[in-house]
Amino acid sequence: MSTHESPQRPIPSEIEPHYAQYFEGLAEGRLTAPQCRGCERWQWPPRPMCGDCHGVDFDWSELPGQAEMFSFTTIERAFHPWFAERIPYTVAIGDFGNGVRIMGLLQDSGDGPEPACGQALAPVFTPAGDITVLEWRQAHDTQ
Ligand SMILES: [Zn+2]
Repeated sequence: MSTHESPQRPIPSEIEPHYAQYFEGLAEGRLTAPQCRGCERWQWPPRPMCGDCHGVDFDWSELPGQAEMFSFTTIERAFHPWFAERIPYTVAIGDFGNGVRIMGLLQDSGDGPEPACGQALAPVFTPAGDITVLEWRQAHDTQ
């Protein structure tokens, strides 16, 4: 056999329990986060106890509104073969304005503007192995 196999995207070997509902939501095309039932605070990253009221009951709700690019970085050197085929690539942090900021690969639209803080981001639900991961795309062309 001399076929070339593309490297597999690195994904978590197991999903940490507090993130299980996040990944279930992604698989359904929904971007969700835990919201405290006691004080309604959004909590990210997911934790077993609310950082404000110490409540332990959460609802997993779809994040309201649109994310804005809080920060980004472009990576020029790959430390995994899957990424080596993609350099340079950009990782962005989407800010929902409610304390939730989620990081994901920024898809390269080819002819889009250079990434900049404050740009609108739209989630892209991307299959990766057995799970779905979040990637971002610039949402300038859909508003
Ligand atoms: Zn709370």
